[in-house]
Formats: sequence, structure tokens, C-alpha cells
Amino acid sequence: MSTVATNLAAVRERIAQACQKAGRNPQEVKILAVTKTHPAQVVEEAIAAGVDAIGENRVQEAAEKRPAVRLPASWHLVGPLQRNKAKKAIELFDLIATVDRVPLAETLEKLLANRAKVMPVMVEVNVGREPQKSGVLEEELAPLVSYLLSHCPHLQFLGLLTVPPYHPDPERSRPHFRRLRELARQLEAAFQLPPLQLSMGMSEDFWVAVEEGATWVRLGRVLFGERR
Ligand SMILES: *Cc1c(COP(=O)(O)O)cnc(C)c1O
Repeated sequence: MSTVATNLAAVRERIAQACQKAGRNPQEVKILAVTKTHPAQVVEEAIAAGVDAIGENRVQEAAEKRPAVRLPASWHLVGPLQRNKAKKAIELFDLIATVDRVPLAETLEKLLANRAKVMPVMVEVNVGREPQKSGVLEEELAPLVSYLLSHCPHLQFLGLLTVPPYHPDPERSRPHFRRLRELARQLEAAFQLPPLQLSMGMSEDFWVAVEEGATWVRLGRVLFGERR
């Protein structure tokens, strides 16, 4: 087995334990391998090991890397997106997980409508209200989702993503994960939506996120080691 495959097996075991604790089905939890800083060969190892999708946080990096990856996979953008990179982003990615404002949604919608293409998207929520972080504040979430549903037929709204404030104790992330789940349940009720996906949890707190309902965990270091 490759190192990545060994690490992935350990992660799956930890997810299974968290699911058991929470009374969830482990099949509901998908693994996004976040391959930023790692070369194409590492991405291929991850795909071969059976991760559910590949995550990159920068458009330019993905533009250089993706053509060099020969194995098929779904690629998700998990970093902030500037409007001037939107065109490149919709050409490169299969899902954009960081929609966080109306003007960005408007730009994406126009570009996609021109191409008659539908893009699955998630909305990033700044649950920790950190000024330096991207993501919509929770009081602006419902208006943004309303805009997506009423004005963006080429954006398929699938769920919410969050990156809680960093803290070495993973338990400190729990209230933020719980809050994201509550926000999702509120949106489902308000807009009569099917169950939303929840992208939350990284290397240091993914099992806590799974206990709180994550359907995607985004993992870098626990699969690939420290980034250089
Ligand atoms: C880098 C990154 C991750 C993965 O972080 P690790 O701590 O290496 O697991 C997850 N989500 C986003 C948005 C990232 O930029």
C-alpha cells in the first residue's frame, strides 16, 4: 500500500468510530483530499487510494496541476474565489465550494449560462465571524441562498462549507460545526430543500465534525504529511 492509502485507511477507521458514536452511516461521509502544495503524482496516489474528490484552494495552482493528472476525479475549489478568476475556475473545477457573496454568484451565473453549463456549488459560511476570513456571515446566508435559488439556474446549491477559527483543541471547533448544521436545517426548512451537504472538518478536527454531521471532510496533512 502507498503511504497515502495507509493514511486513508486510518482516517476511514476514525470516521467509522465517530459515526458509530453519533449513530450515523459512515457511507454518508466523503473524503476530499486537499492536495495544495503537492505535485500531480501525489494527487494520483490519492485518487488511486480511493478518495472521493480532490480539493485545491487556488485556481492557478489547480490550472498547473490538473492537466498533469491522468486519473479521473472530481475537483473541488475550496479556497476563496476572486471574480477575475471565475472564468478559469468554472473551466477547471467540477464544484465550487466557496461561493460567499452575490456579485460572485452573479458572475458565475453569467459565465455558466453562456456555456449552458450547470455547476454544483456550496456556500462558505464564516461561522466564527473572523474579519480576515472569507465566507458569508450567518445573517447574510439566507439572502444569498435565496439569490442563488431565484436568480442562478446554472448554479446548483448543494450545501455549506466552513473553516472554524483555528484552535489546537479540536473540541473548540464543535460549536461551530454544530452551528453550521443548524444553519443548514434552517435553510432546508425555509426553502424546502433536500438535505444539504456539510463540508466541515480538517486534519485536526475531522472526527468532531463527523460527530456533528459532516458529509465532507477536507483533509490534507493527515493524508499527505506536513506541507513544505
Ligand atoms: C488546506 C485546507 C484544508 C486541509 O487542511 P489540513 O489541515 O491539511 O487537513 C481544508 N480546507 C481548506 C479550505 C484548506 O485550505
